[in-house]
Amino acid sequence: MEKETLRIELESLSKNEEFARVAVAMFMSRMDPTIEEIDDVKTAVSEAVTNGIIHGYQGKEGIIYIEVTIEDRELTVVVKDSGTGIPDIKKAMEPMYTTDATGERSGMGFSFMEAFMDQVEVWSVPGVGTRVTMKKQIGR
Ligand code: ATP
Ligand code: MG
Repeated sequence: MEKETLRIELESLSKNEEFARVAVAMFMSRMDPTIEEIDDVKTAVSEAVTNGIIHGYQGKEGIIYIEVTIEDRELTVVVKDSGTGIPDIKKAMEPMYTTDATGERSGMGFSFMEAFMDQVEVWSVPGVGTRVTMKKQIGR
């Protein structure tokens, strides 16, 4: 199969999270995934995009950039923001670690991404932004 790429730019608004999730699901449907694989990817995309909106931009204006690539059976999803960045990535990725003070967040976003995708890589620099790269083999 040829390499195929979808690129999306979303304004940092909570209502756009669903669009990202559904767009990625539609794009990957050409890989003939199972319902479970689609749900896994939707969950991971949802967590990454929500993090960009809530933690990255903290309610301020900004762009969430999503790039989805299909190459043979491999799906790669990159979610990027130019927001606050993460000072300690290792700590941020620990289960139940959250900087949220409202008590609304459980600190499980990265754990879900790691559970539902085969590979999760985070690049982040405070004041510059965050890039989450997730990979999953579809239809093994
Ligand atoms: P939950 O996802 O369960 O609602 P959470 O978002 O706090 O809670 P994670 O998604 O695991 O948990 O993220 C852990 C922490 O990493 C966040 O609390 C935040 O401090 C930081 N973080 C994650 N993504 C970003 C981002 N895009 N920009 C800045 N900080 C981030
Ligand atoms: Mg989160």
